[in-house]
This record gives sequence, structure tokens and C-alpha cells, in this order.
Amino acid sequence: MKSFWKTIQNTILGRDIPLEERLSARMIISSSFASFLGMIVCLFAHTHIIAVILTAILAFGLPIFYSICIYYGKRKLLINTLVVGIIIGMPFIFLYGGGIRSGMSLWLVYEILYFALSLTGTIQVVSVVAAVILSVGSFAVAIFTPYHYVLQSNHDILVSILGSTLIVSAMVLYMTNFQKKLYNSEYAIVENQKRELDEYASRVERANRSQKIFLANMSHEVRSPMNVVLGFNRLICESNDVKEIHEFARSIESAGESLLVIINDILDYSKIEAGKMDLFPSEYDLDELAFMCHSGTDILMKQKGLTFEWYIDPTIPKTLYGDNLRIRQCVTNLLTNALKYTHKGLVQMRFMNNGITEENGIKFVSLSIIVADTGIGISEDQKKELFTRFQRLDESTNRAIEGTGLGLALTKSIVDMMGGSIDVESFLGRGSRFTINLRQRVVKMESMKRNVEEVQEGAAEKKSSAAAGLKILVVDDNNTNLVLMNHILKQMEATPVTASSGLETLERVRSEKYDIIFMDHMMPDMDGVETFRRMKKMEHLNMETPVIMLTANAMSGAAEEYAQEGFAGYLSKPVRPEAIEKELERIQASHATKS
Ligand code: ADP
Repeated sequence: MKSFWKTIQNTILGRDIPLEERLSARMIISSSFASFLGMIVCLFAHTHIIAVILTAILAFGLPIFYSICIYYGKRKLLINTLVVGIIIGMPFIFLYGGGIRSGMSLWLVYEILYFALSLTGTIQVVSVVAAVILSVGSFAVAIFTPYHYVLQSNHDILVSILGSTLIVSAMVLYMTNFQKKLYNSEYAIVENQKRELDEYASRVERANRSQKIFLANMSHEVRSPMNVVLGFNRLICESNDVKEIHEFARSIESAGESLLVIINDILDYSKIEAGKMDLFPSEYDLDELAFMCHSGTDILMKQKGLTFEWYIDPTIPKTLYGDNLRIRQCVTNLLTNALKYTHKGLVQMRFMNNGITEENGIKFVSLSIIVADTGIGISEDQKKELFTRFQRLDESTNRAIEGTGLGLALTKSIVDMMGGSIDVESFLGRGSRFTINLRQRVVKMESMKRNVEEVQEGAAEKKSSAAAGLKILVVDDNNTNLVLMNHILKQMEATPVTASSGLETLERVRSEKYDIIFMDHMMPDMDGVETFRRMKKMEHLNMETPVIMLTANAMSGAAEEYAQEGFAGYLSKPVRPEAIEKELERIQASHATKS
């Protein structure tokens, strides 16, 4: 029974039911209601009992018959029986309801209107034509023959005409209104679909455009520094003035750094897209992380005349566990943007403690890393596109500012990978505030003892070279790289020795003792890993010497693979003196703890 009512209810109210069925459901309900009212009029107008019985059959029989047919899926039978029943029944109702001297003529018109509005196709034409012929026939019978029921009193005629006029008018109003509503709702659906299609098309169009702009940008962003590198290099080759050469070299260095940032961003993004980006969490001190972020952009902020403030909430536990390099990359991205899009005023970096929680005996701190600026700001509309790949906002005003549109998309992907979130608050012309929310495992609960100034002093006090006095073997098949490493190591007060192949390396380690070996990976004939494996198998003077992999392979997981192979450390090219310094310090510290 429940499913019976559900089927009926669905057919009458369901939005996914075909239009025609919804229409006929409404029409049948309205017709049975109209027949019921017609029956009352017949009773009050004292018509022949046959008219009362026929209207009663329509009033009660229609919904019952309709429900049964719908439940058993006999829609065609329903429509055909209904049409035939009405066509045959109506002349009798007309003749026994009072004929032309009553309101019955209106019901004949209503019948034709009903067929015209509720049916479609052949059955509509056939039923309308049949109804018209039978109506005319009924009128003829009523006029030319005495064999029909005539209402006796004026009162009955008036009741019949008045009642019929009111009911038929109400039904016509209902039918036309329902048609209008149906039309409007269908029109709204079509409009909606059209809007969705338009939106989709413009999204595709925007994506295509931003892809094109991205490629144009990228070409510009890569070619400009390359132009600087090649141009200044030529000038260096032609110049004899040492001061001038220094200036040119500094320009080359800064162009190279910009290029490296772009290459790293593209590689990172490709890694994320390919699902190959991994996080490498380790223990780290938050104050040191903050200091590194600060020192990376501090000079540039000063050069641009911006005030750069930073703050670390002293209640944040000192040592945390997470991928500090990736966190640093995200914060540096935000700081670089603040620097680029702020022309005057202030940039702030704040590390805040949002509370410490405990799960299964492990403590976690909720960190908020806030980077705020008083720069050009971002409009409400633009915020929606902010973290979209390749999307640079307002190309017309930003064109003069370097950028690829990858930075924020990358930052968001990394923050998402770390289970965090990134938010932005910004007002056009007044500035922006980016907040990274992250949960990090607490390693040591003690609060940071060192305050911000101490971190700065500590860093400044660090002695400059961990390489001083060391004899270092550098292995690389590329002569330019050897020359470069030779210079860097000499500047770090070390004594570099070079080897340009695996075989030469094997000879050198037999005849000479070194404090450190830097080994390139990709070399013809015998690569770095193979050379290292052979070194482990043979007798030589450097069995205890730490071997550091120095390679252009910066793919995720590379460091771990080399560590598994037995390398003491890993550095990726292009290598900077600070990175060498850090790696040497790390290795020396781990040797000191072992011995
Ligand atoms: P880009 O390399 O263009 O800086 P990002 O992905 O880092 O790429 O940023 C996307 C866009 O967001 C930028 O082009 C810029 O329009 C806007 N934007 C990012 N940070 C800021 C900021 N601090 N102030 C104003 N606009 C910003």
C-alpha cells in the first residue's frame, strides 16, 4: 500500500517525471474535482438522475482508475479509456443535465479545451474533432428532438448556468495557470543550463587564456635572466676593469638565482601533479626556521625601503617535528610575494601558537604562520583565483612585476600535503595577510629559550668556514663544475683536489688521504654510485672518509636513496657555499657525537 501511494505521489509531484505525465496527472485531478462540483450543481438544479450519476462516476471513478493504471504502468490504457469515456459520457450529461436551457453548453466547451490542453499528437486531434462533432450533435438533438431532459423552473436554470459558469471559469483559470507555471519552470531549467554552459565555456576560455599567458610569462621569466647571464658574461670576457667585472658577476648571480627559483617551482609543481612529491619530516628548531626565512628576504626588503618585522610567540615549544624545508619554502614564497607586491610600508612575519593538544601521549602544536603586508592588496573577485595554477591576477598592473603564477598554487599544494590550510585576507590598495595553519608534532616541550635577537646573534656569530683546513677531493666529469668547486672551496679555506672520472678517483683514493670527497653522480663509463661501490670493495687510504653526493638529481627521495647507498651526505646542484658549509657542519657534528 505504501509503495502504491508513493508511486501516485511521485507521478503527481515528482520533478523528474516527464512533462506530459505531470500534465495529465494535474488535469485528471482537476477534472475529477470539477466533476464533483458539477454533480453538486446537477443536484441543486434538479437535473435528471442520469446526469448526477455520470458526473459522480467521473468525480470518483477518475482518480481511482487513474491511480490503478499508474501503479500498473498502464498509461496508454488510462488516456485512451479516459478520452473515450468523456467523449461518450458528455452528450448524455449534456442532454440529461438540462441541454441548451442550462449551463451544460459550457461543459462541452470545457471538454474541448481540456483535450486541447492536456493531450498531444494524434489522440489530441482525434479527441478534439470527436468532441466538436458530438457537441454539435448534442445541440442538434437538444433543439430538434423533445427526447431530452428540460429543467422545469427558472430557478433551476439559473443555478445550473451560474454554477457551471463559476466552475468552468475556475477550471480554465487553473488549467491555463498550470500550463504557464510549467512553461516558466521549464524555461528556468533551460536558462539555468544555458548559464551553466556559458560559465563552463568561459572557465575553459579563462583556463586556455591563463595557460597562454603562463607560457608567455614563463618564456619571459626564463629568457630575461638568461639574457642577463649571457650578456654580462660576454661583457666580463671583454672587460679589464676588476670593479666592473664584479658588478657584472653580481648581476649574473642574481639572474641565476631567479632562474633557479623558477626551475625549482616548475619541478615541484610537476612532482605534485605526478603525485611524486614526498615530505621529509625531521626534528627542527622553529626559531632557526624563522631566522632562515627572515634572512632570505631581509636585505631585499631593506633595499626596497620596506620595514620588515618578525615575531615568534615564545610559548611555541622549541623543537618540533615536520618538513621544515617545505615550510620554509612556503613562508619564503609568501614573503617574496609580500616583497614584490608592496611598494611602501611594512611586511610582517609572525609565528603564533594556537594551542597544544595531546593524542595518545604525543603533543602537537597548532601553528599559525602569518605574512602580512601593506601592499597593493587583492580584490574579492581575484581572491577566488588566487591559488589557481598559472593564475596571475590583474595582468595589466602586475606585468611589470616578475612572476609566473605558480608560487601560491605550489604553496597551497604543499600546505595541503602537510594537512594544513592557507587563508588570505586582503583589501585592494591596503594590503594582504596570508595565514598558514599547520599542526606540528612537539619534540621538546620547553619554550624557546633564545629570543629573536639571540637567534640573530647566534647566527651572526657562527664561524664562517667548516671547510677550513680540509683536504677535499672533488669528482666531476664536467670541467666547469670542477673549476667552480675549486674556487668555492679555496674561498672556504679548504684545499681542493679534483678528479674527472671514476677511474681517476679510484687511483687518487689509493695514493692520497682526503678529509672529504664530493662525488658527482652522472659520469660516463663509471658513474658516481658505481665508483663509490668499488671504493667500498677495495683497499685504499680513504675507507673512513665521508663521501658526499654532489649531483644535479634533485628529485624527491634522492637524498634517501644516496643515504641507503652509504653516502655520508647529499648536495644538489647548483650548489651554494652556504649549503656546503651546512652539510660539512652536519657531518662534523655527527662524527663528533660518534667518537
Ligand atoms: P606570481 O609568480 O605571479 O607572484 P603567485 O602564485 O605567487 O604568482 O601569486 C599569484 C598572484 O596573486 C600574483 O600574480 C599577484 O597578482 C597576487 N598576489 C600574491 N601575493 C600577493 C600579495 N602579497 N599582495 C598582492 N597580490 C598578491
